Amino acid sequence: MAYVITDDCVACGTCLPECPVEAISEGNPYVIDPDKCTDCGSCAEVCPAEAIHPGN
Ligand code: SF4
Ligand code: SF4
Repeated sequence: MAYVITDDCVACGTCLPECPVEAISEGNPYVIDPDKCTDCGSCAEVCPAEAIHPGN
């Protein structure tokens, strides 16, 4: 399962450069492409709003 970004996202952009497979796109909230995400968790670690969570 891919990680997901919730409405808690404040569109700060911090997660964007952290993704090794460029699965994150700008937006409000930002969006993770589930077909690209490899569940590495790097983006969730840096999000100041704790808006990124493992998918279920
Ligand atoms: S979990 Fe890893 S691969 Fe998935 S969007 Fe976040 S940084 Fe990218
Ligand atoms: S780091 Fe968190 S708050 Fe910032 S753009 Fe990414 S998901 Fe949104």
